[in-house]
Amino acid sequence: MNEDLMDKIVALCKRRGFIYSGSEIYGGLGGTWDYGPLGVELKNNIKREWWKDMVQMRDDMVGVDAAIMMNPKVWEASGHVEAFTDPLVECKLCHERFRADHIEDIKSHEHAHAEKDKKCEWTEPQKFNLLVKAYLGVVEGKQSEIYLRGEITQGVHVNFKNVLDSTRVKIPFGIAQIGKAFRNEITPGNFTFRSREFEQMEVQYYITPDEKDDMKWFNYWKDFWMDWYVNLGIKKENLRFKEHEEGQRAHYAKAATDIEYNSPFGWSEFMGIHHRGDWDLSRHENYSGQSLKYKDSESGEEYTPWDIESSAGVDRSALFFLIDAYIEEDGRTILKLHPKLAPYKVAVFPLLANKPDLAKLAREIYEDLKKDFMVAWDDRGNIGGRYASQDEIGTPFCITVDFQSLKDNTVTVRDRDTTKQDRVKIVDLKDYLSVKIK
Ligand code: ATP
Repeated sequence: MNEDLMDKIVALCKRRGFIYSGSEIYGGLGGTWDYGPLGVELKNNIKREWWKDMVQMRDDMVGVDAAIMMNPKVWEASGHVEAFTDPLVECKLCHERFRADHIEDIKSHEHAHAEKDKKCEWTEPQKFNLLVKAYLGVVEGKQSEIYLRGEITQGVHVNFKNVLDSTRVKIPFGIAQIGKAFRNEITPGNFTFRSREFEQMEVQYYITPDEKDDMKWFNYWKDFWMDWYVNLGIKKENLRFKEHEEGQRAHYAKAATDIEYNSPFGWSEFMGIHHRGDWDLSRHENYSGQSLKYKDSESGEEYTPWDIESSAGVDRSALFFLIDAYIEEDGRTILKLHPKLAPYKVAVFPLLANKPDLAKLAREIYEDLKKDFMVAWDDRGNIGGRYASQDEIGTPFCITVDFQSLKDNTVTVRDRDTTKQDRVKIVDLKDYLSVKIK
C-alpha cells in the first residue's frame, strides 16, 4: 500500500476542510466521517453531476427520495435480515475481528503478530448481521425495533407501483435515488472507503424479462459508468471491471460486475452493476400481498420486470476522485479535479490588498460571479502563495485584478493545470468560465 500518498490525502483533507473524523472533539466514533466546507461542495458536485446525467438529461428516468426508516418487513422481504451477514473470524490472541473473505487483512494481521514472535489462532467463522438497529416510538418500553436502511435500493422497489401510477414511465425505465445507508461494518477503514454511515447513488433500471435482451442492458450500464467516471477525470488505467463469478454473487443475481479503482490500498470496489432479475419486486409482492406487476399498455401483457441495478458510493467516489487528482509537480501540490467537481470554480484576488481601487473592483467581480459559481476570495500574502493555496484545493481558475484592469477593464485568468494566464474582459468572464468548466 502506498501509505505515503494516503497519509498525504488524509492530512490535506483535514487541513483544508474536506473531511474530518466524526465527533472528533469527543475522540471520534469509529467508521463515521464529517465533510467540511470543501468536502460538502465536492460531494454535492458529484451528486449534482450524477443526478443531471441520470434524471435531468434522460427521458427514461425519474427520481425518488425514500425514507431512511422503513417498515421492518422490507428487510425481511429483501433478505437482509436473514442474509446480510458477513462471516467473521476472531484472533484468539487479541480478539480483533476480520471478515473471513478479507484474506489480505488476515494475512497482514498474522504477519504483524509474527513480527512479535506471536502466532495467530483463529475462531471458526461466525455470522454477524450488518443492519443497524434503531428504536422508534416515544414511550419507553413500547418502542418498536426498526433498522436504518442497509442500502437505499429497497426504497425504490417499494415505490415501483407508486411511480407507475403517478407518472407516464414505460419500460424500459429507471428510478434514481441518492441517500444515506448504514452498516455495522466489522472493519471500517482505509479512510472513508469503508464507513458505517455512507451515501449511495443508485439506479434501478426496469426491463422486460427477456433473456435475449437483458445482457444488452447490463452491458449498456457497465459501459455507461466506465465512461462516466473517465469523463469526470479518473484516469482510465486506474479503472477496471471485475466480474463476479457464479459462486461469488447472490443466488438470484444473473450477472454482477464491480468497477474497481487502483487505490493506494489496492484495487478496490468503486461501484457495482448487478442484474437482479425479478428478485426484489417478486419478494415485495409476496411479502406485501400487493401486485407489483407491470402492464404493457400496447400488448396488455402483465409481467414482473427484471432490474439492472447500478450502485455507487458517493463517499468512495469522492475519495477516489481526490486520490486520482492529487499531484505533486515542481514543488506544487495540485488537485487536478475536473472543473465540474472542484469545490470552487474560480478564485478572485486583488493584486495588492492595500490598494482600495484594486480591492473595490475585485470585490465587485467576486460579488457578481458568486451569483453563478462557487467563488473563493483571497487577498492575503502574495499572488504566488494564493495560487498555491488554490491549486491545493483544486480551484481551476484564478482571477487577478491588477493595475491594467483599472485602465482597460480586463483581468488575468490563470489556469491551474497549465499555469498560463489569459487576459479576459470583465464583461466576458462568465461566458469564458462557463465554456471552460463545461
Ligand atoms: P464491499 O464488498 O466493499 O463491502 P459491497 O459489495 O457490500 O461492498 P454494495 O452492497 O454492492 O457493496 O454497495 C454498493 C456500493 O455502496 C459500493 O460499491 C460502495 O461504493 C458503497 N458502499 C458499500 N459499503 C460501503 C461502506 N461501508 N462505506 C462506504 N461505501 C460503501
